[in-house]
Amino acid sequence: MFENKERTAISDLGEFGLIKHLTTNFKIQHETSLKGVGDDAAVLDFKDQVLISTDLLLEGIHFDLAYVPLMHLGYKAVQVNLSDIYAMNGIATQITVSIGISSKFPLEAVEEIYKGIELACNKFNIDLIGGDTSSSKQGLVISVTSIGHAAAEDICYRNGAEEGDLLCVSGDLGGAYVGLQILEREKQIFLENPQLQPDLEGKDYIIERQLKPEGRRDIVDLLAQMKIKPTSMIDVSDGLASEILHICTQSEKGCTLYEEKIPIDPMTYETARELGLDPTVCALNGGEDYELLFTIKQSDYTKLKNDVDISIIGHITDKNSGCNMISKSNVSHELKAQGWNAFKG
Ligand code: ADP
Ligand code: MG
Repeated sequence: MFENKERTAISDLGEFGLIKHLTTNFKIQHETSLKGVGDDAAVLDFKDQVLISTDLLLEGIHFDLAYVPLMHLGYKAVQVNLSDIYAMNGIATQITVSIGISSKFPLEAVEEIYKGIELACNKFNIDLIGGDTSSSKQGLVISVTSIGHAAAEDICYRNGAEEGDLLCVSGDLGGAYVGLQILEREKQIFLENPQLQPDLEGKDYIIERQLKPEGRRDIVDLLAQMKIKPTSMIDVSDGLASEILHICTQSEKGCTLYEEKIPIDPMTYETARELGLDPTVCALNGGEDYELLFTIKQSDYTKLKNDVDISIIGHITDKNSGCNMISKSNVSHELKAQGWNAFKG
């Protein structure tokens, strides 16, 4: 990837030089960050309850450097983490970033990752307050921990759904998965014939859904403006079906989901069809959409019914009714999770 570009060996800088070099552009913006990078530990000061979430991303398991640009990888690593804080109805304020760098990586490659991290931090108003840096013998490793806060009464757990609540989801689903299928297809074609350029024409939305997901902080803000506190909430990282089942299991409830209400973008729909995939299955089991799935009281319905970015896709029932999807042809199917998972295959 960096054959024709400048290559500076990381060993030329040493560990401390590298950390300084990578973090120097990052400025602390939050009052809650008393001390960021540079001491043995960061020091934070919160009056609210504190939210913490960590993700580990491993080369070959969670990402493939054949088609993921490093800057996008840095951006996505931060976004997927912030998404977990937003899914608690919280405000994300700080991250730490730990990286294991394979020896084949020049400084310029790590700089690309940090450009993506910086972009995400600036866009979502996040302080980088620390991390750890090591070499890795097993490919690139990135772990991000995100820290946020919320007043105790605002935090949304997975277990708060009540019978009769409406099941809502932001944005549209299945795009990231279908985008990944296109990237995988083009990678195979490239491996068989390196002269061919990837054909991503007309697929920009779904490629972007895969490579550059955005945590839905705007939905958290919108719900606050509408004075709606979801009774439960989760982010859609493993596919809609899996996330609905998490809410229902933890809330000890059932649900009815309507297939025709699941929001699917036209490009996702058409591309899934082209690839011989069922668009609904892509939305149910695809994952990586990082939309917010939440339940609200029926009395809040009029507050959000006209919002084009939120779809009401079903409702919560009693536990004994189970979790079911009513298909477009009006047949009830039991909802099963086949979400993407890193232990498969
Ligand atoms: P220690 O030996 O105490 O773990 P380090 O030398 O690893 O300290 O880190 C020095 C400082 O740089 C700490 O504040 C740490 O949080 C920060 N840091 C280390 N690696 C990274 C990184 N990859 N990104 C951001 N901050 C980092
Ligand atoms: Mg350290």
